Amino acid sequence: MLHCDMIIGGEKISATDSFDVVNPASGEAFASCQLGTANDVDAAVVAARAAFPEWSSMADEKRVEMISALIPALEARMPEFMQLVTQESGKPMGGLNGVGSGMEVGGAMAWIGATAALKPTVEVAHEDDNVKIEVRRRPLGVVGSITPWNWPLMITIWHVIPALRAGNTVVLKPSEYTPVAVTRFAELVNEILPPGVLNLVLGAGEVGSAIASHTGIDKVVFTGSSRTGRRVMESASANLKRLTLELGGNDAGIVLPDIDIEAMAPKLFAACFHNNGQTCAALKRLYVHESIYDEVAEAIAEQAREVVVGDGLDEDTQLGPIQNLAQLEIVKSLAQDAKDQGGNFLTGGNQIDRPGYFFEPTVVTGLSNGSRLVDEEPFGPIVPIIKYSDIDEVLERANDSESGLGGSIWSSDPEKAAELVARMECGTVWVNDHAGLNPNAPFGGIKQSGFGVEFGDWGLEEFSALQTVWLSKA
Ligand code: ADP
Repeated sequence: MLHCDMIIGGEKISATDSFDVVNPASGEAFASCQLGTANDVDAAVVAARAAFPEWSSMADEKRVEMISALIPALEARMPEFMQLVTQESGKPMGGLNGVGSGMEVGGAMAWIGATAALKPTVEVAHEDDNVKIEVRRRPLGVVGSITPWNWPLMITIWHVIPALRAGNTVVLKPSEYTPVAVTRFAELVNEILPPGVLNLVLGAGEVGSAIASHTGIDKVVFTGSSRTGRRVMESASANLKRLTLELGGNDAGIVLPDIDIEAMAPKLFAACFHNNGQTCAALKRLYVHESIYDEVAEAIAEQAREVVVGDGLDEDTQLGPIQNLAQLEIVKSLAQDAKDQGGNFLTGGNQIDRPGYFFEPTVVTGLSNGSRLVDEEPFGPIVPIIKYSDIDEVLERANDSESGLGGSIWSSDPEKAAELVARMECGTVWVNDHAGLNPNAPFGGIKQSGFGVEFGDWGLEEFSALQTVWLSKA
């Protein structure tokens, strides 16, 4: 069994209790982690506050140098990190369309580099003979980061690196399902950055809630379900914390009648099924024009029948298991409901009879809005393909959702697609693609997919407060 300690003020911390981390490909525990409490969160906040004055006032180049040093440190241990991510999340090392733990660790390095290269700016809002008014950025203080299980290392980087880059110190709590690679990453950070700059507390919702409500924490960045996001927002009201909430999505894709089916089918399939559907901004509802509906649905189902499902550590595996039992149960219940509603299963529909939490890649036609499988986010390898005839009416159905994370338009006509993009109610719209992210482009949701953005200057801004400085010339 691997072992994970907490890290507070640069020291490894044990606890009286522990919890196991299960490999979803086997259903067996492979790591044991120290279970933190609210007292550990208190200690982590004390350490983070103590580290803040030095870290926030350090010369910017020095801070950038230390953050950048994390890239070669991760690179030197890339195989180990990939294996840990695969063991705890289930995602393949390589994976469908290259979406796997190699992409996760490689992406982590790329995002550290891009974030380190950002420069907090000083702008001049006004200047005349009497006064110059500057707008500067100040770090907020201590940032709490609460992360989910689907992209454990990558999302930690998305939270922690801009927080540090902007001069804050951090208390981090990874998902209780996937804390292992993040613990190893926190160890690396503590070898390079001063003690107390990044503190790690391990545990589940109670530890998350202690972070969200802690009056010594100035901001929380949270990625997870909309349901838990609401609770984080309630807890954060204790000291009017700033928040970035990156919550669930139920992204719609709209396929126009003019697409090149052969060229687009593999992209559509990967957009839906990469990471086994367990990505916030995966394509989760696919609306296809009636003139090509059967052909597109069959082309996607064909790939679902052929895709290689298995243990992510096996080289050939393209899709792994669902990450945890509770999520598998959600997927099974949505599949059952789709059966009860008369959905037509072109392929899949059942749990796979083997140890671990495997579910068949599943394609369902014949349903529409009003069915649970269409209205709720499955976060698993099951996708409804929905028929439409009229573009105005399908846009209404696509937008008829509490979520507003991403969406996509699929068409051979760029002008037509560009016109429809503006009518999609979501934070990111892709044309002939879905779910790609770039470290220099903002990513975030509207509606109940949350608020605030990550990445680029826009994301960095969320970890600082504007300070207006009047410099009188008199
Ligand atoms: P899921 O239900 O898919 O596991 P969650 O949104 O519940 O996703 O979890 C995301 C993160 O939020 C995890 O790190 C989890 O431990 C944490 N968490 C769970 N409950 C709370 C809470 N009440 N307050 C703060 N964080 C929480």
